[in-house]
Amino acid sequence: MGVGRSGGSLADLRTANRREVLTLLRISGALSQAEISRATRLSHASVSNIVRELTSRGLARSTLGVRNGRRVCDVSLNPSAGLVGGIEFGNRHVRAAVADFTHTVRAEAQHTLSYRHQAASSVPEAAAMFRELVEGSGRDLADVQVLAVGLPGPIDRETGRTASPAILPGWAEFDVRSAIEATLGVRTIVDNDANLGALAEGLWGVGRGFTDFAYVKVATGIGAGIVLHGKLYRGVAGTAGEIGHTTIEEDGPVCRCGNRGCLEMFAAGPALLEPLRRSYGDDLTVEDLVRLSNEGDIGCRRVITDAGRHIGVALANLCNLLSPQMIIIGGELALAGDVLLNAIRESMARRAFSVPAHAEVVAGAFSERAGILGALALALQESEDDAADGAHHRPGPPIGASERQHRLAV
Ligand SMILES: [Zn+2]
Repeated sequence: MGVGRSGGSLADLRTANRREVLTLLRISGALSQAEISRATRLSHASVSNIVRELTSRGLARSTLGVRNGRRVCDVSLNPSAGLVGGIEFGNRHVRAAVADFTHTVRAEAQHTLSYRHQAASSVPEAAAMFRELVEGSGRDLADVQVLAVGLPGPIDRETGRTASPAILPGWAEFDVRSAIEATLGVRTIVDNDANLGALAEGLWGVGRGFTDFAYVKVATGIGAGIVLHGKLYRGVAGTAGEIGHTTIEEDGPVCRCGNRGCLEMFAAGPALLEPLRRSYGDDLTVEDLVRLSNEGDIGCRRVITDAGRHIGVALANLCNLLSPQMIIIGGELALAGDVLLNAIRESMARRAFSVPAHAEVVAGAFSERAGILGALALALQESEDDAADGAHHRPGPPIGASERQHRLAV
């Protein structure tokens, strides 16, 4: 603990201390000022100043409690302080969710979209869905501090637009961030869905407590969110982690991205369904494939095992480059469990230096909800940064009498 107490300006120091108290309250629930002081090693006077400031801004609240027979003044995050939102677009669906600052999901919904839907129609639909969720939970859009949006493709962090029109056709000319901000009046940030999955798994899932890991989403496409030294690594342009477009076979088939022999050409949804069509019919979906595999169908298991082997090649390269502690497999195909995971493990073990000594391959905790939970995680991170900076994007509503909740309700 004691983040930021070496070097930096006095303002940086105050920000770091505020962030430390906010993070502690988020993880621990209610604590007395003495307990906060012990846990953070900040002086009683500093803690008292920070608590007074957070309380006056409506971010924290003080309530009287009893501990070991003694009356104590408990400090906790204020669940009424504000909301954050998430919207996550998949290739065939959109999800939206609302959470409060205590990391409790207040409302969540999902709509089905047509395959390769166009941003011009799906973004307004998602915005309307989000508005309904907020208003349906008795709150107002003005209560939402930050809304994070996930897209299934590489995103340019500067512009919030897709960095590859070939991977996200129908989104190239569309400014998602501005469109949502104009419709809902809520500050909006846009990120890649695999990055969001990594944030969710790191904050609440199997990546919790790990500093170096990759979250790999295997669905209609394949992407990775890479966490290094406890932080999401986005690269210079924000497009790091496009593992689905790394080369598995130099002279392989041409991919939608323009390269040859990309991992996606061998292990993503469409490539898996193709060889099954003659025996299983044209209507087979990835969901069917996983279900049949789980029921013991040997043809489907064969296809998933082959996919795992290819994914293992790409992940062995990733391990040899970055030496992570853990690889988390998510996305629709991860529901095939060990049929997929064992194939990945075996393929990696043959190729990577560090396997199996270091990088454990595990299934993600959140399955198809990883993206939307990650959007909430990113929005919470942004709003905590705002709170720690002392920024006022909007005045908070008055303190309410909501029950004490300090864990993510999943
Ligand atoms: Zn490609």
